[in-house]
Amino acid sequence: MKVVEVFRSIQGEGTQAGRPCVFVRLAGCNLRCTWCDTPYAQDEAGEEVPLADVVTRVLEAGPGMCCVTGGEPLLQPDAPDLVRALLAAGRDVQVMTNGSLPLHAVPREAVLAVDVKTPWAHAGTVRAFTGAPSRTVHAPGGIRPDTPAFRTGATGPGAAASAPANLPPPHFDPSNLSRLTRRDEVKFVVRDRGEFDWACQWAASVGLFDRVGAVFAGPAWGSIDAGTVADWILDSRLPLRLNVQWHKFLWGAATRR
Ligand code: SF4
Repeated sequence: MKVVEVFRSIQGEGTQAGRPCVFVRLAGCNLRCTWCDTPYAQDEAGEEVPLADVVTRVLEAGPGMCCVTGGEPLLQPDAPDLVRALLAAGRDVQVMTNGSLPLHAVPREAVLAVDVKTPWAHAGTVRAFTGAPSRTVHAPGGIRPDTPAFRTGATGPGAAASAPANLPPPHFDPSNLSRLTRRDEVKFVVRDRGEFDWACQWAASVGLFDRVGAVFAGPAWGSIDAGTVADWILDSRLPLRLNVQWHKFLWGAATRR
């Protein structure tokens, strides 16, 4: 499988935040989020490492849980087998995924951490993993997600909720909803009130708060401060949790850890 890096750090996000963790970052991503903080993992390049050797590297890196991430880790056909092998080695395993690919092959003993992208997370394009030319992704109604006409959600801390409730996340495979359990978690990265309102409305519309163990909202690093999102969460009265990326507070956004 194609591996970008194996390293030990502190899990900075979600329900496992604060735990020592060995990260396995697999190569390649089928999305191009404008605020992506691991662009070096987007391309298909990576070291070809046999699955058994990946497990060895994880065990040699040190104790703690293991997070299989990317890029989009499920682009690698062997990713579910890697998760199975890490579980068999006695590790708690979390899989961080963008939810665009089927999740049903991931063993249920692993925790799924699904980062559902808002309709505005991309510059209007997505590139196939095969290297095929980019294509434009159109939202329902034929309006490009990155145009002001589409962004009906007002911006700013005091803005009223006005995001379209019936707009699905364009890169989330809806069949994955049936795979999610109370073991799993979903997060939304938001940059303004419109994106936050959309996340609240879509999550409620698909019963997400009852389906998974935790639903997080957090700021895209450098776009808005976490305190603003915390205020929105309190205003919403929904069972949302604030997600901050502790590793960036600890070591800075540019550091790979
Ligand atoms: S899905 Fe993740 S790795 Fe892929 S472009 Fe978006 S943020 Fe980056």
